[in-house]
Amino acid sequence: MNVRSDFPFFRQSPPVPVYLDNAATTQKPECVLRAIRDFYETTNANVHRGAHRTSRAATEAHEQARASVASFIGAASPSEIIFTSGTTEGINLVAQTLTYAGTLSAGDEIIVSTDSHHSNIVPWQLLCERTGAVLRVVPLTEDLRFDGEAYGKMLGERTVMVAVPMVSNALGLRLPVEEIIERAHSVGARVLLDAAQAVAHEPLDVQKMGCDFLAFSGHKVFAPTGTGVLWGRAELLDALPPWKGGGEMISSVTFAKTTYNQLPFKYEAGTPHICGNIVLAEALRYVRDLGLPAIRAHEQDLVERLCAGLAGMPEIRILGGAGGRTSLVSVHSPNVHHYDLGMLLDQMNVAVRTGHHCCQPLMQSLGITGTTRYSVALYNTEQDIDVALEATRRALDMLR
Ligand code: PMP
Repeated sequence: MNVRSDFPFFRQSPPVPVYLDNAATTQKPECVLRAIRDFYETTNANVHRGAHRTSRAATEAHEQARASVASFIGAASPSEIIFTSGTTEGINLVAQTLTYAGTLSAGDEIIVSTDSHHSNIVPWQLLCERTGAVLRVVPLTEDLRFDGEAYGKMLGERTVMVAVPMVSNALGLRLPVEEIIERAHSVGARVLLDAAQAVAHEPLDVQKMGCDFLAFSGHKVFAPTGTGVLWGRAELLDALPPWKGGGEMISSVTFAKTTYNQLPFKYEAGTPHICGNIVLAEALRYVRDLGLPAIRAHEQDLVERLCAGLAGMPEIRILGGAGGRTSLVSVHSPNVHHYDLGMLLDQMNVAVRTGHHCCQPLMQSLGITGTTRYSVALYNTEQDIDVALEATRRALDMLR
């Protein structure tokens, strides 16, 4: 896959970092940057409100973007696509509307996995505090996989929601989401998938997967920060109450009573990130044109090369082993602090992420404070991996 020239970031004056922090955020292709400029040069107006033609053009482009997102993730209808500011907002939307719905009773259960990002833990803790529901946590097996047996025992008639990442951002391991969904549905629970680490790396089809909600962030799939999507099945979103009040989410307002707009607008109070949402569709078009199967095969080669190189370094351990992973690898060493390793790699022009990766409970369960995480995207090359491996060897030598 030879796409690096599509990304102006890599064309800046040297030294350009060997960028292996893609799980945190991705670089943006030229077509996305051009689409931002085009929008503000030609189509900039507020949506849904204006009689004039620029406003109509902006509205049309915005709603076309919604339809493109729907098609990208296999949604039944564009009205199931709620534009958000990212994964975090999407999960909060579901947790808070469920809180406001008044349908939960004390003792109802929400299940999350140990390797969840804080954004798939704290919104549910807030819900539990306010409703008396109980948060249950599926442990990991010894090889750091989702413990299906423990999950099976946890599921029951009190289970209301199961919320899990498709791919753990700290370990890079894919969860068995198809099985998780099937088993949750067998007890009548709903399933929310956090697709933040999946959307740029594997094809998503919400209807085929059979989940009930799915959230992702635009910035992890080559779109700007501040963009994202919550998808939910229409009948479920329809049944939940609104959460943010303001313009556009209403049907009519009087001081005595307000009625609410239909989907998706019921959940989009205020002026949306018009440009960002339009450009998100452009980023998804870019990915679709390259083809997720080809992207995946390329990234798999890179990750295998990375794992093979890291596995040969006795000071460090790949968390979760080399198999069953997607686009990232986390390593830990009992003798080398992840922060020191990250700093030395930065001095050698290699950008990785160190720390708890917003997964403090996972780190606690592993008895460590953090890891060094290498994460790839479609523009990374074998040379990037080789440079990162050589830099890691040198850094470990220096820290020994
Ligand atoms: N979930 C996972 C698995 C993530 O990797 C991230 C970002 N690191 C998030 C949720 C939160 O995404 P955002 O900050 O874009 O809302």
